[in-house]
Amino acid sequence: MMNYQISRLINFGLQKGLIETDDVEYSVNMLLDVLQLDSFEFFKIEEELATAVPILEEMLEYSVNKGIINNSVTEKDLFDTRIMNCIMPRPNEVVNNFTSLYEKEGANSATDYFYNLSIASNYIRKTRTDKNIFFTYDSDYGEIEITINISKPEKDPKEILKSKNIVSTGYPKCALCKENVGFKGDFNRAARQTHRIIPIKLDNEEYYLQYSPYVYYNEHCIVLNKEHIPMKIDIETISKLFSFVEQFPHYMIGSNADLPVVGGSILSHDHFQGGRYIFPIENAKIMYSVKLEKYPSTSVELLKWPLSTIRLSSDKKKEVLELSEKILEKWKNYSNIDLNIINKTDEVRHNTITPIVRYENGKYIIYLTLRNNRTSEDYPFGIFHPHESLHHIKKENIGLIEVMGLAILPARLKTELELLGKCLLGQEDINKHESLEKHYDWYKDLKNKDFNENNVKEFIEEETAKIFVKALDDCGVFKLDETGSKAFIEFVESI
Ligand SMILES: [Zn+2]
Repeated sequence: MMNYQISRLINFGLQKGLIETDDVEYSVNMLLDVLQLDSFEFFKIEEELATAVPILEEMLEYSVNKGIINNSVTEKDLFDTRIMNCIMPRPNEVVNNFTSLYEKEGANSATDYFYNLSIASNYIRKTRTDKNIFFTYDSDYGEIEITINISKPEKDPKEILKSKNIVSTGYPKCALCKENVGFKGDFNRAARQTHRIIPIKLDNEEYYLQYSPYVYYNEHCIVLNKEHIPMKIDIETISKLFSFVEQFPHYMIGSNADLPVVGGSILSHDHFQGGRYIFPIENAKIMYSVKLEKYPSTSVELLKWPLSTIRLSSDKKKEVLELSEKILEKWKNYSNIDLNIINKTDEVRHNTITPIVRYENGKYIIYLTLRNNRTSEDYPFGIFHPHESLHHIKKENIGLIEVMGLAILPARLKTELELLGKCLLGQEDINKHESLEKHYDWYKDLKNKDFNENNVKEFIEEETAKIFVKALDDCGVFKLDETGSKAFIEFVESI
């Protein structure tokens, strides 16, 4: 029985180019070892599968029944990665294939190869990530995108804040470190035997390219520093982002801010995120255009976007870089008491930027989103962070991806929103569900609105999206009202 499944997996590996004919016996023997079997007979297989999941499920069921592993999601995830490892190309083979495709056919072919490999190897659990919920909402800022991610646990900002200060002694130091390649994983950390990274150079500094196993959007990639060093936003960072899009012009790339509350979940390891995707922010309308004499060939636009964003574009990289640096330096030193923007308290810096870049038709384009991470008595989670009344939907940091208009909402919302729909229709009693307690005020508000049995799902999605947009509004340092807009324009024009 398992011989048949092994034959299927070998067939799959050959079809997907994970292994070659010369690797077959070697891979079979590795699989026999992992599955604790002693002999093998090859079955003729004629099938073509999109992913190895149907085969892995059979193997997992067998292994649970045989007592090789326990029947838990974590153990199964660790074990099916060990299984896939038996048909994986060595890291250097992947690097060589990528490099030779890049040289012969260009960046596009190289990333296509690497992305498809990451799916075929089940490193990206596509059957799982395909289950993520996705919908859009037509807001005042244009179309906003929402995903409810059901494949990753949520972190709260306090945990993330702590993470920056932790001196890691573990191995690997963090989930991004290059030492994760081949890592067996444990109960806290995913197995990474099927993980591969490609060395690249950004302005002569050594980085690696990998895909995110959680694929929040198409070809969601991560570029990580070779060393475990903290995130930092300065002009060198921005220059490195441009260096990336020069090499991979079909991708955009951005960096999370380098401060807690407004940054990403990992501040301790310098990294960027990119991909082949057009984000809502790129379609935002222009609120105001500025002409700066010193930078004649650069267009400077303030976007009609909830987070205060300046877009620069020019065919002169030097100009864009110089101007970006000016804006960054000016922002770091900017305070406006009337708007609650204070750049420093007790020598602790609060102002930073979330930068996003693209290289298109010979133009260098950068989005500079101004951020401030100060907290106050009224806003202990952050003045420019989703306010507490919105935490029932979104309490985590608004990081790079969300700045660009793609919400990543916590998994818990899938069941909560379904249940809430039933409560709205009178099929369930909200008071009987503890998980809906936090939604109670919202529920009362929704109850008075217009919906029916046929559209309740879409109705709740739209209302959820509205909350997310409010969360983004909270993060904007210059609000889009008259005072805020005026101050924002003054800020840019004074450069
Ligand atoms: Zn690290």
